[in-house]
Amino acid sequence: MLKDAFGRVATDLRVSLTDKCNLRCTYCMPPEGLDWLPNAQLLTADEIVRLVTIGVERLGITEVRYTGGEPLLRRELVDIVARTAELRPRPQVSLTTNGIGLAKLATSLAGAGLDRVNVSLDTLDRETFKRLAHRDRFEDVIAGLEAADQAGLRPVKVNTVLMRGVNEHEAVPLLRFCLDRGYELRFIEQMPLDAQHGWSRADMVTADEILALLTGAFELCPDDLEERGSAPAERFLVDGGPSRVGVIGSVTRPFCGACDRVRLTADGQIRNCLFAREESDLKVALRDGATDEELAERWIAAVRGKRPGHGIDDPSFLQPVRPMSAIGG
Ligand code: SAM
Repeated sequence: MLKDAFGRVATDLRVSLTDKCNLRCTYCMPPEGLDWLPNAQLLTADEIVRLVTIGVERLGITEVRYTGGEPLLRRELVDIVARTAELRPRPQVSLTTNGIGLAKLATSLAGAGLDRVNVSLDTLDRETFKRLAHRDRFEDVIAGLEAADQAGLRPVKVNTVLMRGVNEHEAVPLLRFCLDRGYELRFIEQMPLDAQHGWSRADMVTADEILALLTGAFELCPDDLEERGSAPAERFLVDGGPSRVGVIGSVTRPFCGACDRVRLTADGQIRNCLFAREESDLKVALRDGATDEELAERWIAAVRGKRPGHGIDDPSFLQPVRPMSAIGG
C-alpha cells in the first residue's frame, strides 16, 4: 500500500503523458509556451505501462487518470489506455483533456476501455476563449465534449477555472450549458501553479464567491457532504437534482486531510502532492535495470514523506518549480 505518515492511502494515480499542450491558458503558461521536455526524457509507452502495472498490481492503485500537458497529443494514448484497462484488478481509467482532437478519438478511447473524461472549458464565448487560451479552438472543444458524450464516456465532467474580470460572469451560463447537455460541471479555484508565477490570492475567484454567483440563479443543496471523503469537489444538487455541480476549493477549502492522490510526471518522477517540492525519480532507476520490487519500494518511500497539507497559507509557502502543465493536473 502507498501509505503516508499521516495514515492516508494513495489509490488514485495521475499520470502525465506529456508536458506539451496545444493551448496557452493564462493561468497555466505564457503565450509563447515553455521549454518542453526533450523526447528522450519522456517515459516511453512501455515504461508508463510498466509503472502503472506496478501501481495497480502491487501498490493498491484503483484509479488511473491520464493527463498532461495535453494527453491527446500523445500518439500512443489509445494503446496506453487499452493496456491499462487490461490490468487486474481492473482500475478505473479516466482522462483529463482540453478536448481538442477528442471528436476524432472518443470512440477509439471508449473501445480501448476508457471509462470517463474531464474536459476543460472556461468560457462559452469564442473571443474570450481566444483571449484566455491564445488559440482559436473553441469549436474543437465543444465538438470534443459532444463526441465524448456520444461515445458513452459518461458522466462527462467539465472543469472550469473562473478568473476575475475574465469569465466570472459566465458561471451561470456555463452551468446552464452543462445541465442542458447532461455534463457535470466542476468549478476549480485557481491555484498558484502557473509558469509565470502570476497567481494572486486577490484575483482568485473563491469557492464562496462561485457559490454566491450560482445561488442567484439556481437552488443549490449540498449533496453527500458527509461523504466527501477523498473527492476534491463539494457537490451540490441543482434545483432539487438529480443534476449536480461541484466546487473544488483547493485553496480556500483544502481537502489535503483526505487526499488519496499520487502523481507520475511525464519524465518519470513520483510527486506525492501537486505542491510538493521534492520528487522521486523512477525513470533513472527503471532505465538502470531496477526490478519491479525495487521500483515499488522507491514509490512507497516517496509517498511516505507526503506532507500533511499543501501549505499555500503558510508564510513559508513556495510555489513548486514545475508548473501544472509539467506536473499533470
Ligand atoms: N490539458 C488538459 C486539460 O486542459 O484539461 C490536462 C492538463 S490541465 C493542467 C488539467 C486541469 O488543470 C485543467 O482543468 C486546467 O483548467 C487545470 N489547471 C491548470 N492550471 C491551473 C491552475 N493554475 N489552477 C487551477 N486549475 C488549473
